[in-house]
Amino acid sequence: MNTLIQNGRVVTAEETRLADVLIEGEIIREVRGGIPADPKMHVIDAAGMYVLPGGIDCHTHLDMPFGGSNSSDDFETGTRAAAFGGTTSIVDFAIQARGTRMRDALDTWLKKAEGKACVDYGLHMIVTDLGECGLEDMDDLVNEGVASFKLFMAYPNVLMVDDATIFKALSRTAKNGALICMHAENGSVIDVIVARALAEGKTAPVYHALTRPTRAEAEAVHRAIAMAEIAGTPVYIVHLSCEDALNQVREARDRGVPAFAETCPQYLLLSIEELERPNFEGAKYVFTPPLRTKENLPKLWDGLQDDHLQVVSTDHCPFCFEDQKILGKDDFTKIPNGGPGIENRLQLIHHHGVNAGKISLSRFVEITSTAPARIFGMYPKKGAIAAGSDADLVIWDPGALYTISAHTHHMRVDYSMFEGFEVKGNVRTVMSRGEVIVDGGQWLGKAGRGQYLKRTARGGAWK
Ligand SMILES: [Zn+2]
Repeated sequence: MNTLIQNGRVVTAEETRLADVLIEGEIIREVRGGIPADPKMHVIDAAGMYVLPGGIDCHTHLDMPFGGSNSSDDFETGTRAAAFGGTTSIVDFAIQARGTRMRDALDTWLKKAEGKACVDYGLHMIVTDLGECGLEDMDDLVNEGVASFKLFMAYPNVLMVDDATIFKALSRTAKNGALICMHAENGSVIDVIVARALAEGKTAPVYHALTRPTRAEAEAVHRAIAMAEIAGTPVYIVHLSCEDALNQVREARDRGVPAFAETCPQYLLLSIEELERPNFEGAKYVFTPPLRTKENLPKLWDGLQDDHLQVVSTDHCPFCFEDQKILGKDDFTKIPNGGPGIENRLQLIHHHGVNAGKISLSRFVEITSTAPARIFGMYPKKGAIAAGSDADLVIWDPGALYTISAHTHHMRVDYSMFEGFEVKGNVRTVMSRGEVIVDGGQWLGKAGRGQYLKRTARGGAWK
C-alpha cells in the first residue's frame, strides 16, 4: 500500500518547505506540493507538523560486554527506544577481542542484532589488535559494509592501541576509503593521574572527571589529526567534550584538513557538578570523556553552529544504577562507564538548539541525520527526503510538550540523565522503510524488522 503524507513542512539539511511526500513500499517516490491522494492510499495528515528524515545515531553501544555484564539495552530494547525518539538508524560498535579476527567480532555482533533490531543498523569495528593480517581484515570488512573503524587512545591494556597501530590503520583507510573514528584521550597520562588519586583515597565518582583533564583530550585530538594528515586521510573524533579539544579540530579544519567531530547531548547540556550528587548518584554521570565545567557548553554549541562539529550522536551505553553502577561504590574506576540517551537526542537538540535560537531547523536535521548519513556511507539511502531514499521519516510536532523521565522512557535502564527536563517538540509518527512503527506514543513495529546496513567506504568525503 502506498502512503501519502500531506500538508507537512518538509525539513531537510538544505531547506524547509511545504510539500507532500509519496511513499511506495519502502521508498520515497515523490516530494512536491499538491500530490493528489487516491482512495487506495494510506493518507497521513501532517498539517502543522514537520516531516524530518529519520534520525541517525552513529554512536551506540547495545548489548556491550563490560566487566562480566552487558550494557542494559540490547538491540531490541535499544532500537525500540531509539524509534520512540525519532531515530530510525543506528551505527553500533563491534569489538575485536585481542588475538582474534575482526570477522569473528562482526559475526558476534550481527548475531546480537538478528531477530531483535527494530530499526536499521550498521556496525563500526573497534580494532584492538592488528596482528598479522589486521590490515587485510580491514579491507575484507569494508566489503562487508563496515565502512568505519574505531581506535582507542585511552584505556591502556584494555582497548588502547599505540601510535604505530593508529598510523597503520589510518594509512590503510587512505587506500580502502574507510574512516577511522578516534576515542581521543591520552590514556597513559590519565592512568598515572588515576593511580595517584586512588593512592590518596579519592574514590568518589567526581574523581572520574577530575582525573581526566581537558588537555589529555586535546592532546590526543591533536595527535590523531596530525597522524591522519601524515597518512593523507580524513579522521573522525568521537564524543568531543570540551573547548580545549574543539580548538584542535577548528585549527585543523581552518587549514582545510578533513577532520570531523561529533559531540553528544550530555556534553552540550550537563556539567561536572552532576558527578557531585549525593548518595553515589554521581555515578549515573560517569562516562568517558567526563562531563566538563560549564564554560565548555556554549563553546560546543558554537562549534555546531560553525560546522567545526558536524554530528550529534549519543554514545548510548546504559548501565542500571541499582545493580551495575553500584559496582564502583568504593572505587570510581570500577563504575561501568556509560550513560543512556538514545531516546532523547532529537527532543533535546530540537528544544535546546532550535527553540533556543542556537541552530536552524535545517542544521538540526543535518547534525542529527544527514551529516552522519554522509560521513558514514549511508547517503542518500538514509538522511534524505528525496525520491529514491528509504522512507525513514519522522512526523514531528513542534508544539508538543514533554517531560523526560525514567518513569516513562523506553530505554531499559532505571534512571535518566535528563530527568525532569521539559522540552517543546516531540515525535508524533515514525516510519521506517515505509512502515509506521511509532504513532502517538504507541509501538507498532516489531523486533527483528531492522536490517543490517551495508555502508559505502567514502572516508567521510562525500562531496
Ligand atoms: Zn562510545
